[in-house]
Amino acid sequence: MTRSPQPNPSTPIAVSARSATSDSHEVAAGSLRQLLEMYQRSGLRWYLMPDGTRLNVRDLLQRFDSSSTTATAPPAAHVEMANAAKTNESSTAAVATSSEAERKPEPTPQPKPASGDRPTFVPPTSKENKPVVLAPAPQFANWQLPVLTLDQREQNFADLKKRVAACTKCRELVTYRTQTVFGDGTLQPKVCFFGEAPGADEDKQGIPFVGKAGQLLDKIIEATTLKRPDDVYILNSLRCRPPSNRTPTPEEVENCRPFFELQLEVLQPKYIVCLGAVAVRAILQRSESVGMLRGKFHAFRGAKVLVTYHPAYLLRNPDAKKLVWEDMQLLMADMGLKRKS
Ligand code: SF4
Repeated sequence: MTRSPQPNPSTPIAVSARSATSDSHEVAAGSLRQLLEMYQRSGLRWYLMPDGTRLNVRDLLQRFDSSSTTATAPPAAHVEMANAAKTNESSTAAVATSSEAERKPEPTPQPKPASGDRPTFVPPTSKENKPVVLAPAPQFANWQLPVLTLDQREQNFADLKKRVAACTKCRELVTYRTQTVFGDGTLQPKVCFFGEAPGADEDKQGIPFVGKAGQLLDKIIEATTLKRPDDVYILNSLRCRPPSNRTPTPEEVENCRPFFELQLEVLQPKYIVCLGAVAVRAILQRSESVGMLRGKFHAFRGAKVLVTYHPAYLLRNPDAKKLVWEDMQLLMADMGLKRKS
């Protein structure tokens, strides 16, 4: 291993998470600990992740202390002394000196998950929580349909699943799909989570939201105190995977509309959470951004609709998790759910 350069307290440090086997500059956990100790001795308090997240050196060292394995160490960390002043001016601006950083306490950092890690969704402590203010809700029609028994729902879904499996409306998708992905969860849900389209893992398993984004959605659901599959049903705008996970076309969403509308009519959920812009366009048929539409309830037939970011977006932009948590708090407040203490 090459000898690590000595840190200069005024020099920003970039830490990148990569595959543990992909780079000859990998720093093993033991060496990383030594480096962290060296940085601490040198007065450096922060790591700067490539996405701008700052990780506290002392916290990272405590994570080493609390485990003899590398499982709790920062994800396959590679430490690079960055010539950041030349190469990354924004990073330089983002890393305050230790005394500046102390004056401005940061929210709990949410490191980007490295390959193989399970994604995390850690709501802030109750002290950091903003109070939830419920905006006046729009007028909600009821579903104006008979409420089906569980048996009737199962029968309906069994028939509908067969029709979906035989559907060939979207020629390109039919060529590439392994199977159709109908939906997952209880047929008497408290909330329906409505996403975009199946990805590679979903296409393989025939179940929506089972890949990395699905694991993160599970964490989000868990944070609301709801349970998957007991309390929720999960479905997408499309039942077939678009090649290379491209965004579904409006035509494909219209082709699949009869299926997801029928599913929702059978389930008649009181709440629908739209995950991302495609879901918003499918359910609300509105073109504004998620940022414009989130933070309040909208109406779709008899359901209250909440708009928030797609978990796949959160994997790329962990800072947006706090906005999703704000949205989930709205949902919880309206449903009368209390966060576990
Ligand atoms: S996405 Fe929907 S409409 Fe298109 S082929 Fe699949 S099941 Fe049919």
